Amino acid sequence: MTIICNRHKFQYEVECICKVFFPCTLFGHEYDTNDFDRDDLVITRLKKGGSHTFLLAVLKWNGKVYHAHRVVENNRAEKQHCEEQLCTALYEILTRATGVKVKWGIMTGVRPVKFMIYLMKQGMDAQSIRREFQERYLVSDQKISLMEKTARNQIEILRSSRENSYSLYISIPFCPSRCSYCSFVSSSIAGQKARKLIQPYVDRLCEELRYMAKMADTIGLRLESIYIGGGTPTTLSAEQLKQLTDVVREKLLCGTVREYTIEAGRADTITREKLAVIAGAGATRISINPQTFNDEVLAIIGRKHTAQQVLDCYQMAREMGFEDINMDFIAGLPGDTPESFQHTIQLATELAPTNITVHTLSLKRSSSLYTVDGLDERMKQVKTGEMVDYAYETLSQHGYEPYYLYRQKNTLHNLENVGYCKKGYEGLYNIFIMEERHTILAAGAGGVTKLIRPGHDKVQRIFNYKYPFEYLDGFSEILKRKEAVFTFYGKN
Ligand code: SF4
Repeated sequence: MTIICNRHKFQYEVECICKVFFPCTLFGHEYDTNDFDRDDLVITRLKKGGSHTFLLAVLKWNGKVYHAHRVVENNRAEKQHCEEQLCTALYEILTRATGVKVKWGIMTGVRPVKFMIYLMKQGMDAQSIRREFQERYLVSDQKISLMEKTARNQIEILRSSRENSYSLYISIPFCPSRCSYCSFVSSSIAGQKARKLIQPYVDRLCEELRYMAKMADTIGLRLESIYIGGGTPTTLSAEQLKQLTDVVREKLLCGTVREYTIEAGRADTITREKLAVIAGAGATRISINPQTFNDEVLAIIGRKHTAQQVLDCYQMAREMGFEDINMDFIAGLPGDTPESFQHTIQLATELAPTNITVHTLSLKRSSSLYTVDGLDERMKQVKTGEMVDYAYETLSQHGYEPYYLYRQKNTLHNLENVGYCKKGYEGLYNIFIMEERHTILAAGAGGVTKLIRPGHDKVQRIFNYKYPFEYLDGFSEILKRKEAVFTFYGKN
């Protein structure tokens, strides 16, 4: 499909809206052309008149033509208003043509709750905020309510973060095999080459953590939460996990830390021995991620374990005294059906972990779900919206509350990822990172340090190298880049 942008520069926003309705499509771009004599075309145009600006959206698709326009008074024709008006016109014709009603309207941002909290802070009352989302962004009542609940559940936690607070992210970019939907940089250790990198990687990571501990001390930062994620941290052996967590305990874990999560992740990596290391390390929260309890779907997505293995791991973790456990699920997996997804969520509520996170499948081009012709045929059948709604209803009935919410690009039907929990078990790190409330120091390959000053919108980022081999080769450069943390806090 081709997107034509005539006399405006909103190509990014236009493509974001188009992707919501045509998630499996590759878009080409053309500018300032009148070559409209073809199908599969999105034409957008801005035209300035004497007192008004005209915004036009046309779709030529399946032999039919759809169009809508907006007129903006020139004294209101600032860039953002024109962009939003063009997007609403486009949304109107795409809805008409495809029959798809998108519940997030023209909102394509990652952090809608952050925006809602921002409006609250501006002193807007609940009614006006609702109207803003309904009328300006065309968001459905259902999603506005979801945002309101989520915002309510995180406001106190956000307030508890202090001026000098920070959280720590530690990246383990290794997995036992690669899932078909994965676009993450994680290396599968199925091959010898990646496996050989693990020990040197852990050694360097420990070195980086020692450096960061010293840095945080010198600056006077206060550590609130720790998150060891990936990848799959339990891809490490029990000894390697111990080596890593010993450094965390000796150099970083202190009285101010309110939460310490280690993602145990995939059932094919979890052993009693590793869980014992995690318990001994002082971790307060773990994650065991089934994604689905349907064995056929697990096989389709390339997971080398069964649903029963997940249940066994969960049982083992409970018996070993782990109380705060998160389970991740994904709506929209290839081969999944609403019935099978319902069974998954039902079973999850019977297990009653403190946290249940429901993701919507994100369709990245780097994942193997994409074929040369676009998206795997199976993906076009999945009824993701139904699944997400079912999860919300069922989890609410079982006493789970949404406490963090974010959206990724390219999710099926533009839907969201929601963390649900039992009261009092909100995952602090998830809230802090998502709402960008305080600094996140990140260690390891793919880690992105975010330097944040409370009350300021601007986030300064420091990138570590993405892949383990780059991380090892460029380690001294990574430590050098971290010096920007001192500068940010005025300590050099
Ligand atoms: S476990 Fe997660 S990071 Fe690892 S391959 Fe699967 S999706 Fe990717």
